[in-house]
Amino acid sequence: MPYQVSQDPGTSPPPSRMKTLLRGLSHLCPACGQGRIYTGYLTIMPHCTDCSSPLADYRSDDAPAYFTIFIVGHIVVPGTLLMEKFASPEVWVQQALWLPLTLILTLLLLPRVKGVLLALQWLLKMKTS
Ligand SMILES: [Zn+2]
Repeated sequence: MPYQVSQDPGTSPPPSRMKTLLRGLSHLCPACGQGRIYTGYLTIMPHCTDCSSPLADYRSDDAPAYFTIFIVGHIVVPGTLLMEKFASPEVWVQQALWLPLTLILTLLLLPRVKGVLLALQWLLKMKTS
């Protein structure tokens, strides 16, 4: 299926880099901003349903997991250490707070980080095929 742009390139400028990255953050196609990029939680659609942009050609492999671990780790580890230093709660309190928070943050951030990386690859034209 040939690549099609939903907007007439002669009448409207391409989206800004920030707008394109925000589209990825919102799980929207980086090319048109209308179609969804996921078929499920993390499975990228082969093509955008709106503009037919080939989304599956942009493979991020382990990068979304790496960046998600990086972000969540920089929230949870300092939080745990600061709480221990200033409040020194029981271990079960620390676990009851930080373990669910780690899981929730990871599950919320992973698809968003993957969407941003897809948009970044689209901006840089980093197709794998
Ligand atoms: Zn699209």
